[in-house]
Amino acid sequence: MIDIAANLAVIHERINAACKRVARDPDTVRLIAVSKVKPAELIEAAWQAGQQLFGESYVQEFRDKAPLVSSPVEWHYIGGLQSNKVKYLRSKVAMIHSVDRLSLAQEIDRQWTKEETPANILLQVNLGREASKSGCTEEQLEAFTRQVVQLPNLRIRGLMTLPPNFTDPEAVRPYFRRLRELAKQLDGLQLPNLAMRELSMGMSGDFEVAIEEGATLVRIGTAIFGERVRKSG
Ligand SMILES: *Cc1c(COP(=O)(O)O)cnc(C)c1O
Repeated sequence: MIDIAANLAVIHERINAACKRVARDPDTVRLIAVSKVKPAELIEAAWQAGQQLFGESYVQEFRDKAPLVSSPVEWHYIGGLQSNKVKYLRSKVAMIHSVDRLSLAQEIDRQWTKEETPANILLQVNLGREASKSGCTEEQLEAFTRQVVQLPNLRIRGLMTLPPNFTDPEAVRPYFRRLRELAKQLDGLQLPNLAMRELSMGMSGDFEVAIEEGATLVRIGTAIFGERVRKSG
């Protein structure tokens, strides 16, 4: 049996140690437990162990599973998103991390028209220029941001990236550093409705490096819930 409480305790220790190395307050780093492909019971077990934020990557799975979780968890949507599925996230997620194109931003804006508060979103940047990953390019980011800030029902809270997979976490460091620089540049534009407070970066294999480079949201799955059986789509 997987001991989720023990895994969470180890991760918190590692988060604290990474924060200490760069003199950061650990309260500035929030842990998102990535529960995709994992059953509601494991989410409840993590909640019992004190975990409050959960990340999901597949809309259909999220739709089916969220009603089975009775604890008041905070859901973050972190996966690829087709515009026609945005409606299933409305009123349910605290943040969408994967906004990478104007048509998607426009659909979220449309779906949130009737909500009392705007949608909290992150812009996803494909720093490694990988065809297999979503995200706008660095070159597109400023123009994209200028368009998104005009949508009244959205609030850009920061940036997200999914860097190339390397076995050595140090190899990913420049990508994390770059995301922080880009966020700073965008903040410098002083656009309305824009405060780059969040950097969503770092997963099981590299979250400590991400924290050293400024991550405020780390998305960790395997190190909490164990390996995932692969699923396509
Ligand atoms: C699955 C996933 C994660 C978690 O990855 P682990 O290596 O299991 O920690 C983080 N971010 C995104 C966007 C994911 O899809």
